[in-house]
Amino acid sequence: MIGKLLRQILVSALLFLSVFYSLLQVDWVSMVPIDRAQVERYLGKLVWLSYSSQYREIEDKDVVDPVDDLLTRLCETNGLVRDSIKLRVVRASEENAFAGPDRYIVVHSALISNSVDEEELAGVLAHELAHIQKNHVWSTVKKELGLSLFFITMSGNGEQLAELTKILASSFYSREQETEADCTSVAYLCNAGINPEGMVRFMQRMSEDGDGYVPEWMSTHPNWEHRIATLRMAMKECEMKEKSSVISTEAWKRMKRYFGKSISASKSIGKDN
Ligand SMILES: [Zn+2]
Repeated sequence: MIGKLLRQILVSALLFLSVFYSLLQVDWVSMVPIDRAQVERYLGKLVWLSYSSQYREIEDKDVVDPVDDLLTRLCETNGLVRDSIKLRVVRASEENAFAGPDRYIVVHSALISNSVDEEELAGVLAHELAHIQKNHVWSTVKKELGLSLFFITMSGNGEQLAELTKILASSFYSREQETEADCTSVAYLCNAGINPEGMVRFMQRMSEDGDGYVPEWMSTHPNWEHRIATLRMAMKECEMKEKSSVISTEAWKRMKRYFGKSISASKSIGKDN
């Protein structure tokens, strides 16, 4: 009698799991007739509102302009529309940057202040730009959130949005997407006349000095040694345009001075510093 009951429970559980698994495989978003551009636009705005409520935006030209100049060089030399990218800089102590829906690129101040030169900074920007151009952001958001995407979009639920921004700022892309972003970023940098070696240097330094925090661009899958090998391989294949710097020495110094004045050099600075 007990044996029969246990069998029935086991069969029911297996049935439930198989139905649940099948439902997870369905691309619900594609089945619903939606205006993708509209949903992305709205979601991008909500994600940015949620992020900027946690991290203060920096609008000072001494900081934003040099980053903007790098992004503009990357776009113009690769046939990409610069105006469609929404660049935002926030005051945050983790050396991170990430791409959000509706072509947002959010850059943390620590990434800028701790970049040794423009090549390091440009490497990370090119990586995030590649995630946008290769449609990684939308396809992953769609896959990760499924139908709850619509509930978030319709309700603007704060907790769910905070969770989504956390996902976007961490390593949530697949191994294939990270590899594609790395190879594409090398091509972008070569076309822009910026040495892609900066990304490798930055990655090596972060892996040696890192405090365990993993920013989006340092995704652990594939691991960083593998990623450096991929970047080096891609560098061999790309034809480097004549190298020319983007940020003037004066502008670079002004940018560093800004952080020297208001942000401690210590890595232990808080989010609101
Ligand atoms: Zn990435």
